[in-house]
Amino acid sequence: MPTKIFLDEKDIPRQWYNLAADLPTPLQPPLGPDGNPITPDMLAPVFPMNLIEQEVSQERWIDIPEEILEILYRWRPSPLYRAKALEKALDTPARIYYKNEGVSPPGSHKPNTAVAQAWYNKQFGIKRLTTETGAGQWGSALSFACALIGLECKVFMVRISFDQKPFRRLMMETWGGHCIPSPSEETNAGRAILEKMPDTPGSLGIAISEAIEAAVTDPKGETRYALGSVLNHVMLHQTIIGLEAKKQLEKANEKKVDVVIGCAGGGSNFAGLSFPFVADKINGADIKIIPVEPTSCPTLTRAPFCYDHGDTAKMTPLLPMHSLGHDFVPPAIHAGGLRYHGMAPLVSQAAVEGLLEPMALHQIECYEAALLWAKTEGFISAPETSHAIAATIREAKQAKEEGKEKVIIMNWSGHGLMDLTGYQAFLEGRLHDYPLPDEELAKSLKGIEGLPKPSEAKSGKW
Ligand SMILES: *Cc1c(COP(=O)(O)O)cnc(C)c1O
Repeated sequence: MPTKIFLDEKDIPRQWYNLAADLPTPLQPPLGPDGNPITPDMLAPVFPMNLIEQEVSQERWIDIPEEILEILYRWRPSPLYRAKALEKALDTPARIYYKNEGVSPPGSHKPNTAVAQAWYNKQFGIKRLTTETGAGQWGSALSFACALIGLECKVFMVRISFDQKPFRRLMMETWGGHCIPSPSEETNAGRAILEKMPDTPGSLGIAISEAIEAAVTDPKGETRYALGSVLNHVMLHQTIIGLEAKKQLEKANEKKVDVVIGCAGGGSNFAGLSFPFVADKINGADIKIIPVEPTSCPTLTRAPFCYDHGDTAKMTPLLPMHSLGHDFVPPAIHAGGLRYHGMAPLVSQAAVEGLLEPMALHQIECYEAALLWAKTEGFISAPETSHAIAATIREAKQAKEEGKEKVIIMNWSGHGLMDLTGYQAFLEGRLHDYPLPDEELAKSLKGIEGLPKPSEAKSGKW
């Protein structure tokens, strides 16, 4: 019984899986400011056309270009681990597997799409990418990808993380990226927020507004914007995780998976592992698929499915998604990558369909889980990843109560070696849980009143 299951480079998946092709109720289109569906050319100032084509594609399988695979081989296929030490500590009959996405150079799953996005932009003749970053994982992933592919990279980093996580900024700069705190004085969107809320910790929504503005106002038209999560093409690029995992589970002689778990901020690492299993579920398999989010930012568990903007300044089209409202500024929990008001439309539609069983957890339970993980499996987890670990522990304990040999697979989305200030706060007893009060949610949802409503139709099968 091996601890790690490897795949040879020659067995790496050569196509991404597109869930849009298989959703029982089709994805609804993004809408422009006039309430009409937007056309691909309306997105052209923001993204290169080759990525826009992926964004709207209904093809089930999309080839991964050889040059992208050449870069992914630096850390892919990533190992699948059997969490034997955790199983033993929990005395559970469950077999727990995790995909280790922390082995990439920046330390998370994010380079899977950063490399693909940088490559498609380069092909299209773009010289520079702008982006936002929360915890700094995405900014460092894109800086890394731009360095290897030969693009300039400018990153607007959420203020609170910029202050709490100086080492992520230094990683970006090491790879040649340029990182500034958001809100900044560099954009109209940033200046407007600073005037109203000079002490704001910032949010991903604000940083996205700034990064898009910085891209579309390049007079030479050589700059585009890259988003690290939420969009369909990002979910697509991440599916390599789940596709590899399926081959690895087969090597481990596992015939059936019972539970699939990933933490969910914008939804990309969760989608990456789970979508190939969602496809099995659509085709009749009995699998419990759990996206895990913080109680302080409970997008799938408490927010409505609605049309909303992806950013605070309302520069993005309206996306059909679960959203806490584009004005939502979540409490400053340490899992910066889970502090986003929306959720990927593909994940949201799968949730509406009943294919997913979302869970919200408090940060203290998650840090306790991360400590148990560190003392058993050994790895120090990103605070985001700790949400998936806590849910995995709950499921493993439930398997014990039920006396069932369940197979649980979890996405270990990244390491936490740059996030030790969060661990410090936990170890010193300075962390608090932040249940979101109903009044605050209601206030934030005022921002979406009057916007068009998506259909909540579903097949009714799940
Ligand atoms: C960014 C990040 C997340 C959250 O983003 P998703 O798009 O929801 O995956 C989770 N884990 C890690 C380690 C991250 O860096």
